[in-house]
Parts: sequence; structure tokens; C-alpha cells
Amino acid sequence: MEPRKLAAGNWKMNGDLAALGQIDALLAGAGDAACDVLICPPATLIHPMVARVGSADLLVGGQDCHAKDAGAHTGDISARQLRDIGASHVILGHSERRADHGETDADVAAKAGAAQAAGLIAIICVGETEDQRDQGRTLEVIAEQLAGSLPQGATAAYTVLAYEPVWAIGTGRTPTVAQIAEVHALLRDKLTARLDDGAQVTLLYGGSVKPANAAEIFAIPNVDGALVGGASLKAEDFAPIISALAAA
Ligand code: PEP
Repeated sequence: MEPRKLAAGNWKMNGDLAALGQIDALLAGAGDAACDVLICPPATLIHPMVARVGSADLLVGGQDCHAKDAGAHTGDISARQLRDIGASHVILGHSERRADHGETDADVAAKAGAAQAAGLIAIICVGETEDQRDQGRTLEVIAEQLAGSLPQGATAAYTVLAYEPVWAIGTGRTPTVAQIAEVHALLRDKLTARLDDGAQVTLLYGGSVKPANAAEIFAIPNVDGALVGGASLKAEDFAPIISALAAA
């Protein structure tokens, strides 16, 4: 069985209730895409977005969760709470959370374990900095992040991996096709070695994906979709990315 294709949008700390109109435009424009489509809005918009989507084919997810189910953790949200309001996925270990909140691989693994237990699909992000790439350490860094961030008992049904080079996020710069292919091949090899169903884990590329480069990226072996930041905020940009994935 092939991995499921996924076009995932990360709205980060952008958007208010008025931005939900993008969902209508996306649903109208995307049609019955041959891939899963997910938006991860800020926490304030998850429930209103789920309500707006109704029975239509668009998934809604969170951008982070706590590793515990409940308790004295002011400002945090648990995986169970995300599931309760209709989220299907949660992004974990995004480089902005690793940098801004000091999240470690062990933190990410604990959160991913909680997500899995709550019935959420964890989108686990890994990626090298520009310095690490310049030092020729990309594959070593990715392998270490993957090994440390994947929870015990991970399965393809509840795990998505996103390769997001830190230097490509929001910069308009992307790795070459060969560089993406090399990292995705490594991820597939490591996942296949560690999980019985590692061949079925969806692997996303993320970092300055746009309508103009989407088709080229989706043609790369072991790229099953994208995690898209800036270009997911407007339906007119995200819809052609979804179409490119559906056609790949
Ligand atoms: C991201 O933050 O996950 C991302 C890929 O951002 P952008 O598409 O804007 O580079």
C-alpha cells in the first residue's frame, strides 16, 4: 500500500475569524482531490474551522500539544482536547517550537506518544540548520532527530514525518531536488528499519513550497506531500499546490 498523500497547511500565529472564508474558497476550488487536505490554524480557530468545514472533505489540526492529558499546565492544550474539538492531526517539533520553546527530541516523542494515544496523527518535523548543512552534517542531524522524536509504538496510521530544512522555512529558498531526495530516502530507510509499516508513513517536504515549485517537489521519490506555511494562508495559493499533489 502506498503512503497517503497529504497537503498540510500551517497557518502558524496568523488568522482570525474572518480568515475562515479561505476555507470556503478552498473547498470550492479544491474539488475532490486525490489527496488528504489539512489546515492547522491557530488554536483559537480550530473549533470554528471544524464547524465551518462540516461534512466536507477537509481536515483540521493543531500546531502543538502537551504530553499530558490534563492538569496544571497553564496555556497548554492536550492531545485529547484537540481530538475532542475535532482535530485529526497535530504538528509537533516544528523548528519554530524547537527554537522558541526549547523543545527537544524527547519532548517531541512524548507529545507524539500522547497524540497517538488520543487518536491524533502526529506530524513530526525534522530539519537541519544552514550551518549544519554547510558542515556536511545534514543526514546525521536528521537521523538523530528522527531517532529521538519518534515515539514508542509508532505506526504509519498515526505518524507523518515532515522534512523541513530550517533555512528554507519562510525564506523563499528551497533545497535542490537531489538534496530533498537524499533526505527523504534516508527517512524512508530509517522508518522501514524501525517500523513494520515504515514504508507506508507519509513523508512531507516543507520549506517555501509554492504553486510554482510544487509539481517539481511532488515528483521526487518518497515525497508524499507538503507542509506549507505562507502559501497555505490564501486559497488561491494553496489550491494549486493541492492540485499539483493530486496529479502527482
Ligand atoms: C512551515 O513553517 O512549516 C513552512 C514550511 O513555512 P513556509 O512554507 O512559509 O516556508
